[in-house]
Amino acid sequence: MLFKLKELTKKSNKLLLLSFDWTRPKDPPMSLGQASLVAKLHQENIPVIDKSWAVNSKQFRVEDAFRFVMAYAGEKVDLAMGAYVWHEPHTQALLAALKRENFPGRIILGGPQVTYTKQNLESYYPQADIFIRGYGEDALARLFLSTSGRPPIAGVHYAGEPDLGLSANIALDQLPSPYLTGIIKPQPFIRWETQRGCPFQCAFCQHRESDSNVMKRRQLGYARVMEETQWILDNPIIQDIAVLDPVFNSGPHYMAILRQLIAGGYSGKIALQCRIEMVKDEFLEAISILNQTAKVVLEFGLQTIHSNEAKIIQRPNNMQKVKQVLLETRARNIATEVSLIFGLPGQTLSSFKESIAFCKDYGVPTIYAYPLMLLRGTPLHAAKESLQLVESSDIDLQIDRLQQGIPHVISSPTFSYEDWCAMAEMAETLDQYNAKAGGVRDKKASPKMRATLESTFLWQAREQQKNLQ
Ligand code: SF4
Repeated sequence: MLFKLKELTKKSNKLLLLSFDWTRPKDPPMSLGQASLVAKLHQENIPVIDKSWAVNSKQFRVEDAFRFVMAYAGEKVDLAMGAYVWHEPHTQALLAALKRENFPGRIILGGPQVTYTKQNLESYYPQADIFIRGYGEDALARLFLSTSGRPPIAGVHYAGEPDLGLSANIALDQLPSPYLTGIIKPQPFIRWETQRGCPFQCAFCQHRESDSNVMKRRQLGYARVMEETQWILDNPIIQDIAVLDPVFNSGPHYMAILRQLIAGGYSGKIALQCRIEMVKDEFLEAISILNQTAKVVLEFGLQTIHSNEAKIIQRPNNMQKVKQVLLETRARNIATEVSLIFGLPGQTLSSFKESIAFCKDYGVPTIYAYPLMLLRGTPLHAAKESLQLVESSDIDLQIDRLQQGIPHVISSPTFSYEDWCAMAEMAETLDQYNAKAGGVRDKKASPKMRATLESTFLWQAREQQKNLQ
């Protein structure tokens, strides 16, 4: 396919930074990913106009975003936005409209949907001029500051040119903090990060990445993280923190963060995504002490208890350790949430039931189960045919999710579509179990499968937010 290269040699005056978010009412007005980009652009004195929309809001209209952008069309502006799975149809609609109306600025696309597309980006987004793979803060700033229209920057691909498939370099320890710079104000609920990337390689997850530049766990600067911890303590309005680190209990800083929260008497809720096999006694001891003032929730992704299923998704679980940690958290009265996946290759209706039963037997107070989606660029996505996985988009089904444009795996050689529906039903009824067991209950639970599907988008939102672009 041939692409007409837009004239990219003229420097623009401003950058429009758009964000299509999937939010809950308690979310801050700006996502952490957007705020981090804005902080970096401010640091470099780049004029930026940022605008966010909640695409899951009933009021959201992609036309509003289109009109917003076109209002600046006469002002020599470039447009940058992240592409995420939950708003792919909106991204496509916006880009198509901008192309139709000859938006004159450069269109710069980043985000996981770009990062994990290894080739032919132009065929997915023919309207975009520039793509950024990987963490985008430094690359976007360098791109905008360059006097050349096409500066060579690792991770930046210009439409129509040979694609090296690289990811952007970033000095995480140099990044300005969106909290300490005042971009994110103290508010009751915040999302927070202390590190990015993940050392594990689950085959369904976009964090698993063949490019070690993206996958490798990286710490934010120690001084920054400690200052942010103090900022949290100095602002007692902050009473609910969701830490986006894929594996909080890894890396060199997490115990120091907990110790500082303990010393400062943090009194709110804090949710930490953790790897069960990496839980150490000193970690649980620190959580128990912190719980004297705060409410800590440990979130564990178990996915399945069955080794054959775990093997296919490259997510081995040490079940002895899993049992030991679940018993220990229960004995210490630590709130835990365990998430499972249904629709896994090799899974059956009964094996899924057994995974749920295991969690209940071990007294897990909150259990979630999410339907498997094949995310672009993941090994499972690539293995769809060999594993004979059928996605909802492959057949004609009238279920809510199809309207969202995000296919799920709904049958395989080991489970039928009817089995999948039964699994979805069981996932939904976990809400009642959670309420009875004293865990979290989704107050907005709605008709059949809706709650499960909505929480899936939130899950994806959270997963992809971990990979801030
Ligand atoms: S699912 Fe979690 S542990 Fe596995 S690769 Fe993704 S972020 Fe890492």
